[in-house]
Amino acid sequence: MKKVLLVEDNEMNRDMLSRRLIRRGFEVVFAVNGKEGVDLARSEKPDIILMDMSLPVMDGWEATRCVKSDDATSSVPVIGLTAHAMSGDRERCLAAGMDDYVAKPVRSQALVEVLERWIPAAARTPAPLHHAIGGS
Ligand code: MN
Repeated sequence: MKKVLLVEDNEMNRDMLSRRLIRRGFEVVFAVNGKEGVDLARSEKPDIILMDMSLPVMDGWEATRCVKSDDATSSVPVIGLTAHAMSGDRERCLAAGMDDYVAKPVRSQALVEVLERWIPAAARTPAPLHHAIGGS
């Protein structure tokens, strides 16, 4: 079973996303702030991290930098959950070391696509070939 670390301080979003993930056969571990997210990334060894941006204690950008600068966790894909799908926000996600992002509110299809893209073993259908995170 693939493990998803969901770092999200909003309880409603946490419930909605975790229900979808569990229904698709993922194990879900929660963190409610960025610091807890960094700690759980080390102790839980998730297959992927879904990271909210606006978080208490430590925001999603800083938490991502911590995850990506630690050899124990740097290979774990970090997917930003961003409320602002504007290009500037995307660049900020990638600059912080995030591997990809999903715009909020998260659509089911977008969630499935990003999981299939970054956890190949979880894929039920091939990831779309047209996706390129570095494109302009
Ligand atoms: Mn938040």
